[in-house]
Amino acid sequence: MSTAYIALGSNLNNPAEQLQEALIAIGGWEHSSIDALSKIYSSTAVGPGNQPDYLNAVLRIITQLPPSALLDELQIQESAQGRVRTERWGARTLDLDILLFDNLQISTSNLKIPHPAMKQRNFVLYPLADIANLEMVLPCGSDLGTLLKQCPQDDLMQTDISLKNNVKSE
Ligand code: ATP
Ligand code: CA
Ligand code: CA
Repeated sequence: MSTAYIALGSNLNNPAEQLQEALIAIGGWEHSSIDALSKIYSSTAVGPGNQPDYLNAVLRIITQLPPSALLDELQIQESAQGRVRTERWGARTLDLDILLFDNLQISTSNLKIPHPAMKQRNFVLYPLADIANLEMVLPCGSDLGTLLKQCPQDDLMQTDISLKNNVKSE
């Protein structure tokens, strides 16, 4: 069994419903179980054009899948929820990124772990800190607390949205 952290993001077609649908789908996977869910955050889109705000969250799962199969499953779920890939960083119904997978470092053409941009993204680091220890050391050697200190919260806001989930420990 492996532990993976997954970032969820949505800024189209009712983001709260999109995140809810993703949680229900992932929670129903035979090969994985949801171990923890962060608070839900809102953030301003960084991509091109004038995009709606995002909702973001981070999930920890325990999984039997290897990283490449996990990516496949996440992309299947993105497609099931109507994700259409047009321009890079364009608005999307659902984005599911693998942030961390055990202590692995992977760099293939279609999968990079840790996620290359996670250290600079407040909408990843703040929710991650809801469910991971600040002492957690990433494969690069940096700890989460140090990365957080270097990453301003800016307009990232915690929301009071609560989503149904079957986190095993709750
Ligand atoms: P960013 O990766 O900067 O957050 P994005 O999420 O908008 O941008 P996508 O269009 O969703 O990018 O994904 C592009 C490709 O990134 C995917 O097809 C996938 O193969 C690849 N990829 C590489 N590493 C990862 C990872 N850790 N998690 C998810 N996808 C990844
Ligand atoms: Ca992303
Ligand atoms: Ca992605």
